[in-house]
Amino acid sequence: MSAGRRMRSAASDIRMAINRKHAEPDTVVVGGGLMGACLAWGLARQGLRVCVLDEGDIALRASRANFALIWVQGKGLGFPAYTAWTKAAAAAWPRLAAELNADTGIDVGLDQPGGFSLCLSDRELQSNVDVLRRLHDQPGAVAHPYEVLDHGQTKARLPAIGHEVSGSIYCPLDGHVNSLRLFRALHAAFQARGIDYRADHAVEAIEPHNGAFVLKGTWGEMRAPKIVLAAGLGNARLAPMVGLDAPMKSSRGQIIVTEKAAPFLRYPVVTVRQTDEGGVMIGDSEEATNVNLTTDHGISSVMADRAIRMFPQLEELNVVRTWSAFRVMTLDGSPVYEQSRTHPGAFIAMAHSGVTLAPQHAYDLAEAVAAGTIPDELAVFATRRFHVPAYA
Ligand SMILES: Cc1cc2nc3c(=O)[nH]c(=O)nc-3n(C[C@H](O)[C@H](O)[C@H](O)COP(=O)(O)OP(=O)(O)OC[C@H]3O[C@@H](n4cnc5c(N)ncnc54)[C@H](O)[C@@H]3O)c2cc1C
Repeated sequence: MSAGRRMRSAASDIRMAINRKHAEPDTVVVGGGLMGACLAWGLARQGLRVCVLDEGDIALRASRANFALIWVQGKGLGFPAYTAWTKAAAAAWPRLAAELNADTGIDVGLDQPGGFSLCLSDRELQSNVDVLRRLHDQPGAVAHPYEVLDHGQTKARLPAIGHEVSGSIYCPLDGHVNSLRLFRALHAAFQARGIDYRADHAVEAIEPHNGAFVLKGTWGEMRAPKIVLAAGLGNARLAPMVGLDAPMKSSRGQIIVTEKAAPFLRYPVVTVRQTDEGGVMIGDSEEATNVNLTTDHGISSVMADRAIRMFPQLEELNVVRTWSAFRVMTLDGSPVYEQSRTHPGAFIAMAHSGVTLAPQHAYDLAEAVAAGTIPDELAVFATRRFHVPAYA
């Protein structure tokens, strides 16, 4: 065979291999935010051929706008399984950070020194303590460690607090991460794991067909035996196409970022944290709207005022950015993981605390999807919990 023919034949082999890989992956993940990225990476770790279909860059992504806490304290009131799931996530974070670093060389800035909820009045402290007591007294409660500290005890650990801080709650399991680096690491790991990531591939329709799924958009169509809907707010439209449900409520959050400052805050506080790069993030409001993403100055000034009362030196810092974003907020704030009963092979995954739960999605949930079964311990996260009759 001539050199020219050999080259043409090799090029055709490569094209066929690429087409094979692209034509029918084992699993298509719809959505390339934190949820989809963790799942895709986790599925590829198990040797599956994974394709991620993601909307364009102007998409509404919670994953690029979050506060980056890995937060256990207070999670799971009315849902003890969620406390256990969150505790397991915090414990698995060092493994995820190390494995992403091994895949990509990116340090995601994981720091888990414990975290504080600071209170600006005795009443606020009492109300936070009451929530934790209720959480620990509920039937089937899963305990998490915490300490209630007065002003002096808090100041001993957080010397920069102002005199208006009446006390705090400290949980040693809490921490934070560099959220944008986490997102970048996951996407860089796509390349390391051979994941076929396709931006500008919004899925418009999903049609079940002969035990598989055909996903369609203006870009064309793709077929796969298994799909995971990890499209954040986009799940609401896609879920019914495969017999699933994505019950969500409106929730917008605002965040303020200051210029960089010398390190003064060793621990993350639920509404104030100093990033590994020095900037201080102040967040994050809870507004019952999904209407627009303009920042509300009334709300950001309340956030800034509380932050300055907690740490008076913040008054000297310039604000460099503010933004608001929509949360992927289920009706009870706890995650939803489910396989369609009418269309087995179609899964849905949604969670508000996608940073905190990243290891659970990359490991446990990805393993469940790969196995084709949601195990009993995760079955509690199905949407049927929202369909209990009112009189039950
Ligand atoms: C202000 C704020 C603060 C937060 N703070 C924290 C925190 O401190 N700790 C924490 O754990 N969590 C926090 N979160 C939550 C966390 O950011 C989310 O849980 C997480 O980002 C959700 O990721 P996701 O992939 O489900 O959704 P998204 O990031 O919204 O990604 C969804 C993806 O799906 C794509 N998509 C949508 N529709 C389609 C379609 N039809 N076809 C293809 N692709 C589609 C979109 O383009 C997008 O890329 C916060 C969120 C907000 C908004």
